[in-house]
Amino acid sequence: MTNNLNGAAAHIWKPYASAKNPPSTFNVSRSSGMTVVLDDGVEALDGISSWWCASHGHAPKTVVDAIRQQALKLPHVMFAGLSHEPAEALTQTLLKVLPPGLDKIFYADSGSVAVECALKMAIQYQRAVGRPERNRIAALKGGYHGDTIGAMSVSDPDGMHAMFQGLLPRQYFAPQPQCRFGQPWDENDFDAMNALLDERGSELAAVIVEPIFQGANAMYFYHPEYLRRLREECNKRGILLIFDEIATGFGRTGELWAQNYAGAKPDIMCIGKALTAGTITLAAAVASSTVADAILAFMHGPTFMANPLACAAAKAAVELLDCYDWRGNVKRIESELKAGLEPFRAIPNVRDVRVLGAVGVLEVKQLPCPDFVMKTVRETGVWLRPYGKFVYTMPPFIASTDDVRRIVAAMGVLADV
Ligand SMILES: *Cc1c(COP(=O)(O)O)cnc(C)c1O
Repeated sequence: MTNNLNGAAAHIWKPYASAKNPPSTFNVSRSSGMTVVLDDGVEALDGISSWWCASHGHAPKTVVDAIRQQALKLPHVMFAGLSHEPAEALTQTLLKVLPPGLDKIFYADSGSVAVECALKMAIQYQRAVGRPERNRIAALKGGYHGDTIGAMSVSDPDGMHAMFQGLLPRQYFAPQPQCRFGQPWDENDFDAMNALLDERGSELAAVIVEPIFQGANAMYFYHPEYLRRLREECNKRGILLIFDEIATGFGRTGELWAQNYAGAKPDIMCIGKALTAGTITLAAAVASSTVADAILAFMHGPTFMANPLACAAAKAAVELLDCYDWRGNVKRIESELKAGLEPFRAIPNVRDVRVLGAVGVLEVKQLPCPDFVMKTVRETGVWLRPYGKFVYTMPPFIASTDDVRRIVAAMGVLADV
């Protein structure tokens, strides 16, 4: 299993893991389309798109070619004082798919950094318009916005970052919306957020939320009307609204942007994950002109900002949206996930079943143990990584009916413990 070349594995610190007792892992030698090839030769379907970023499958040819071509010309150059064609071409491409009005793009090197940038933009904007006392952020319980300090400060305070509370700037939290996607709207559901905005509005630079789908910390879908109400109330109070579409963007929930379900637009939006179709790290904080134009000089500048390889990859990745009927695929995957996962409500360990777009979630009482997960991955040939309370899938949009059937079956095995 763990490929322990010259004992290297003992010195590699894995995510969310112990360095002393490293978890066992599969080594992946190759990937393409739906498939990752594990070290013992097993070809496994990637049921979670490699942390949700390989939305069009692994190693799409046009994206890999774009990186290769770009590497021969200009792998990197600093972005202050200099610019380059890949960044300009990507910007033109993104402007065609971004919600109209969101058109000032600040490239960042990961999703968490894009969130940091969005928060800093909000603070700088409020200072610029003469409200420097507005230096706090409001967010939702159950939210997740990344693992850096600022991003952790606006993520669920009781979630995976609870131990860092002493380090984090204090922000304000409204309860998780209770009214689910697809249920009738209940106006009371917005009361707590409304009260928070009333009470703390004069301290708030912005509200940040994951629109419609709370990912890593909650795997939960809430009602679009919540976002419409939030937009309205932020407008009234001069509070900026930030949508973190890092997980939801580029079609994952069935709409290109999850905010489209609500028809509500943010002042700043974060994108990442599927932006480069799972090939190389890139993210962005995208602002409206109103926000961007007020800021004299935005005080952020990553070393690898707008890396040309990443920009070339992202342009080719975004263009893939025009190359096949991803929307039709996601609709089909959604109905297959619904049909396949609903019967698992009968499994005693399954507490809830939730599906929207190409996201399928089994909330479980008890998580399968890591050894059982490894064994199931090898036996079913489906790569899944349950965590917290969730056995879930976010398959690439190119998943066939048979792929979805196999993923659903593997989820059933993992949930039935
Ligand atoms: C993954 C994620 C992030 C963080 O992105 P990284 O690239 O891992 O830093 C932020 N917000 C949301 C909603 C995410 O799903």
